Amino acid sequence: MTKKECETLKKKLEYSNENAWKNLKVKLTDKFSKDYMAFMSEGKTERTFVKKTVEILNKNGYVPIEKADLKEEVKAYKVYRSKAIAIYRIPEDIQNGFNVIASHIDSPRIDMKARPVYEDSDVVLAKTHYYGGIKKYQWFNIPLAIVGVILKENGETIEINIGNDPKDPVFVISDLLPHLDRNPDKKCRDISGETLNLIIGSKPITFEKLDSPAKLNVLRILNEKYGIVEEDLTSAELELVPAFEPREMGFDRSMISAYGHDDKICAYTSLRALLDAKKIARPTAIVFFDKEEIGSDGSTGAKNQFWLPPIKKVLSARGKDANVFLDDLIEDTAVLSSDVSAAVNPTFKDVQEMNNAAILGHGIVVTKYTGSYGKAGANDADAEFVLKIRKLLNDNKVAWQTGELGKVDVGGGGTVAKFFAERGMHVIDTGPALLGMHSPYEIVSKADLYHSYLAYKAFVEKFEM
Ligand code: MN
Ligand code: MN
Repeated sequence: MTKKECETLKKKLEYSNENAWKNLKVKLTDKFSKDYMAFMSEGKTERTFVKKTVEILNKNGYVPIEKADLKEEVKAYKVYRSKAIAIYRIPEDIQNGFNVIASHIDSPRIDMKARPVYEDSDVVLAKTHYYGGIKKYQWFNIPLAIVGVILKENGETIEINIGNDPKDPVFVISDLLPHLDRNPDKKCRDISGETLNLIIGSKPITFEKLDSPAKLNVLRILNEKYGIVEEDLTSAELELVPAFEPREMGFDRSMISAYGHDDKICAYTSLRALLDAKKIARPTAIVFFDKEEIGSDGSTGAKNQFWLPPIKKVLSARGKDANVFLDDLIEDTAVLSSDVSAAVNPTFKDVQEMNNAAILGHGIVVTKYTGSYGKAGANDADAEFVLKIRKLLNDNKVAWQTGELGKVDVGGGGTVAKFFAERGMHVIDTGPALLGMHSPYEIVSKADLYHSYLAYKAFVEKFEM
């Protein structure tokens, strides 16, 4: 064969994993990126993300499902315990199963304990318990904001958001200076969970003799500002999240660094996909879960499929036997478990098997299985369903690649996929690949962000089983 013939054959036969910037509309991508960054700046926790989502839905003609006329076409949402949400678009006549895009809006972070505040050596601190898989050292000496709610005994809910506004103070977990952090073997000490103590004050309320005068000063400030007493912190959810803002990254501004891409990037892109869709192929639900980072347990996590009961109500309102009909629908339901993947970090390639690893800027990642040690805990999507998704993405010119979470017996992880699979739905993992996943400042390619949006839009508009 001639060299030219070989080249033609190579192009025809070999899998090619092309860079997603090729043929990308840069203006549209930049506009989308700006919208995404603005949303992420305000929606750093599951509660604030749900709040922002509801604002957008209300502007786009969606109503709380409790207020919707279920006999007509439904464009509605169900907020679940302030931390999860399902968004529905259901035609007047339900003929098929649903197209579902499911993601999670909780991200690794640090939570305050129930009795957090104490004073030691004239410094006021707060005890914490980290949430999800973090590398503890990454959370020292960065500006942190406190975001969450405090519920008072009179029933009032106080919303807390301190540190995100540049005029606010921030909070810091302080590491030890290198001069004093020398073990005999010259290694820094191990960081244990109980060293993640947040510094929140240092000024005494009085110079008279008194136990913990600086702590009392902090409690006084909290009482004056929010009307709370220390016991109110026992009925609170206070999350420490990085105070820094999403920013464009690199000389070429080709990336976005932000806290919480995992997995709010999939939530945002799927929300926009639904709102921008010109039509829907089948009944559609976009679901944002909480608690994924701690195993999807808890009532707002994916183990509780809170998005199904409202569909039963729709069926009942339309005179159908909800239980029987829901089983049929579930069997015919297609789910994109939309979660981020790990992009190859060029500095740490040894953890990846490069033939099957996802590359930054090469489009949305389709992951047949996650899991670890012999695929344990994985959904492992059927080849038949993989083909349908592959065709959808190719037909709609979406840049995509396959991926897996690291080398065999090195990596692995879980997503919400298996909680749909165990109900009998077709499901596969999809999402953009990140650098520095689970760090306080994760990195994504704008090209992957935009192609994820395009993938979800194609799924909503065109996917048929
Ligand atoms: Mn995730
Ligand atoms: Mn995660």
